[in-house]
Amino acid sequence: MTTDAAFAELTTRLQRVHALGTVAELLGWDEQVNLPPGGAEQRGAQQAALAEAMQAAASDRRTGELLAGLEANAEALTADQRVVVAHGRKDYDRATKLPVEFVREKAAQGSRGYHAWVRAKAADDFAGYAPVLEKNLELAKREAGYLGWGGREYDYMLDKHDPGLTAAAVERLFDALKRDLVPLVREITGSPTAARARAAAAKLRGFPVEGQRVFLREVTERLGFDYARGRIDVSLHPFCSGTGSDVRMTTRFNADEPLDSLFSSIHETGHGLYEQGLPAAQLGTALGLHAGMAVHESQSRLWENQVARSRGFWRGFEPRFRALFPAQTAGLTGEELSLAVNAVQPTLIRVDADEVTYNLHILLRFELEKKLFAGELAVGDLPAAWRAASRDMVGLEPATDREGVLQDVHWSDGAFGYFPSYCLGNMLAAQLWYRARALRPGLEEEFARGDFSWLLGWLRAEVHAQGRRCDALELARRVTGEELSPRALVRYLRERYGAAEGA
Ligand code: ZN
Repeated sequence: MTTDAAFAELTTRLQRVHALGTVAELLGWDEQVNLPPGGAEQRGAQQAALAEAMQAAASDRRTGELLAGLEANAEALTADQRVVVAHGRKDYDRATKLPVEFVREKAAQGSRGYHAWVRAKAADDFAGYAPVLEKNLELAKREAGYLGWGGREYDYMLDKHDPGLTAAAVERLFDALKRDLVPLVREITGSPTAARARAAAAKLRGFPVEGQRVFLREVTERLGFDYARGRIDVSLHPFCSGTGSDVRMTTRFNADEPLDSLFSSIHETGHGLYEQGLPAAQLGTALGLHAGMAVHESQSRLWENQVARSRGFWRGFEPRFRALFPAQTAGLTGEELSLAVNAVQPTLIRVDADEVTYNLHILLRFELEKKLFAGELAVGDLPAAWRAASRDMVGLEPATDREGVLQDVHWSDGAFGYFPSYCLGNMLAAQLWYRARALRPGLEEEFARGDFSWLLGWLRAEVHAQGRRCDALELARRVTGEELSPRALVRYLRERYGAAEGA
């Protein structure tokens, strides 16, 4: 068998596993958007059957043979082929090295953990949840061990979401960010501008859902989301799933929080644009898959924050916003609207946080996760450690665990190492933003004319079309010419929110 024939067969197999994965995603989307309440159990059975088929396809011995053959002939492969083989190996090992009993135990624990978390949060009962967390931690460490990461368990958890990242690298970045960000947040939130922004934001009330729907559809379409290859629906928590020519986003509406649905939709649009921009012919291999969660978040946050909170963006869209909501915006000046869009207010709850203080919530979680994995912090001591870290970083101390350690769902099903991606995505987004502006100084003027095509075209070429060829660190280096660092993020936050601006 020639190398090319083996590679072609491997590609077909990888794409088949991926296709099954997209079916599972579609079922998940449907569960949150359409499923009648009585259908939950049947859906569970469908998902379980599909998971079994996916596991069988992913661990097929023939795939292992093809990988071994191609690895033995690595010098005959092109650089792109090597990327596909390397990632195929990683996925194959994950599918074959975990004992079946372990996979079963983990799946059962994931569903138990979620329900235990829901109960514990409702009752503000951390003690009832602690055994779940202990178990999840133990399972995570065992999983790392099976895959050859013994002794570097937290590195494994980070690498799962962002290939190539290590705890030491993240720690260096986050320490530098913390040094600048903590005082900057105090400065921003204490400024007279921040108080005026909060007052302006409080004026945005009573926006009919129908008008919001029209506005966000027009905005996201203008940004470049292709509705012939995607759609937007309503769900409890906004998310984006799917890829290629079928990308599903969701949003939610609240008449008194028009900016919440708008910005969360733009955030999901950023994820959607990335998925729509991945090379269609390579879908399902590393050349047609996203490069990890940090890069994904950099795309959502770049559109949500750097673009959609800019003056240029609102110069362009303000007339339409006012035309759709004449009564609601009558008492609002243009300056107030711009302030409301950029209101900053520290909060105890991560998902309610603005783009400035959001990063503090991530720094907090990273420090605690790192200590948990290093054995420096016992699960039973988490609530107190959380309160202390929250006081130290966010400047607020939760009165209940519900507003503290119990607020996030992630740890309930063992998703450790996920949080850092959000903040690393913010760093990368800021770096991409300055690079784009350096290449295209008139960018915001184009936004004011409703033209986002240059920015999207640039991201398509530099980020989307690259698939998984490079990780977040390498991507930063190649696209911006600089190492990933918090410098651009701090500069951006200072420029947009610093006391000097609009005070
Ligand atoms: Zn996101």
